[in-house]
Amino acid sequence: MNTSNSEKLYIKAKKSIPGGVNSPVRAFMSVKKDYPIFIRKALGSRLYDEDGNEYIDCIGSWGPMILGHNHPEVLKAVKNAIEEGTSFGLPTGREVELAELVKKCFTSIDKLRLTTSGTEAAMAAVRVARAFTGRNRILKFEGCYHGHSDSLMVKAGSGLLTFEHQDSNGITEGVMKDTLTLPFGDIEKVDRLTDEEDIACIILEPVPANMGLIETEGEFLAKLREITERKGIVLIFDEVISGFRTALGGAQQMYGVVPDLTVLGKIIGGGYPVGAFGGKREIMDMISPSGSVYHAGTLSGNPISVAAGMKTISILKGNPEIYEELDRKTGNLVEGIRNLIGKYKIKATVNHVGSLFTIFFSENKVKDLDGAIGTDDEMYNIYFDTMLKNGIIVPPSKYEAHFLSAAHTEKDMEKMLSATEKAFEEIGKCRKRQGE
Ligand code: PLP
Repeated sequence: MNTSNSEKLYIKAKKSIPGGVNSPVRAFMSVKKDYPIFIRKALGSRLYDEDGNEYIDCIGSWGPMILGHNHPEVLKAVKNAIEEGTSFGLPTGREVELAELVKKCFTSIDKLRLTTSGTEAAMAAVRVARAFTGRNRILKFEGCYHGHSDSLMVKAGSGLLTFEHQDSNGITEGVMKDTLTLPFGDIEKVDRLTDEEDIACIILEPVPANMGLIETEGEFLAKLREITERKGIVLIFDEVISGFRTALGGAQQMYGVVPDLTVLGKIIGGGYPVGAFGGKREIMDMISPSGSVYHAGTLSGNPISVAAGMKTISILKGNPEIYEELDRKTGNLVEGIRNLIGKYKIKATVNHVGSLFTIFFSENKVKDLDGAIGTDDEMYNIYFDTMLKNGIIVPPSKYEAHFLSAAHTEKDMEKMLSATEKAFEEIGKCRKRQGE
């Protein structure tokens, strides 16, 4: 496979952009590649690189592209919106429509504020939770990622872990001490810690997908709800990935657990820059200008993002069979992968929720960050490399999930399974060389 244009672009990019990329996982460093693939265009389930190679895309821009790339109706909505101007810095009717549509999907949301990224939405949700409770400390879970604002960058999952760090440099000790962390799923520790400390909020990915995908036990979420309600702690579900993906109403619909605040992103912008946070009226009314918690944004509620988000969510809402189809397709693929794991006696296990899955190279079920860290790097690298050589882009880090879309066809699935078989053969050969 010729990727010389990507190589040349990377050499050039490193001179002007830190590490040659604008978001770290894109650099392909953790899968020991000398340079990443530079993408020129995308359509449906496919990506096309700068050398003209075509790939089946299992990244989906890390979540937004649930309908596939450049869905014709989304594209039309965006084109129409562009004709009318790209940013006004004043309110628009479509923002109101989007807020109303989101409220129909997420019954826990009385009011919604749009932002430009998931990072900004999570940061603002934590700020308003602190103001609402009058408490400083927050609790998050190891390996859950909530964007890159200072107080949420502690044990923050994929992007950091990919480069073997748990926390970011450049964050003050003062900020770090107000962010407490616990292993995901350990409800006893949550109960104890929330007795010992005054906690403003507990924030979590109800379906964690930034330490690879974790299959949450519904009881954990229900117990978190019970504890937070009893102790006056704001419960925040970060559904930037799971929102509109695991179900139209996200993980909260799937598990039947209602948070106080919800953070959204990715699909709500249909592939354009966006984020949102919303929830109970009494909390959201503390946001400026109704209340004293400041939040603002030059491009908040950007008309192009709103048009793409509206169209994407309307399609999902009007066609519930999309979710059934996605679950079925992904389920069949995962079953095929599990059969191959058995056939080739690979030390691997697959976590799967809806259209998300992760292959962990470990014999044990992965339930938390320690489990994910303990999985085999070399086997993941061989898997990544073989998939790429066979025209399939899977996440360039063992700490990320595969994202499938409505545009992936049965043929795509067959190709993915056949490439996975080749990857497992390569892993087998490598193990033989190592005398296992
Ligand atoms: N929350 C979760 C669960 C995410 O996965 C991400 C990004 O991947 C974010 C927040 C941050 O969103 P953004 O990248 O739009 O800032």
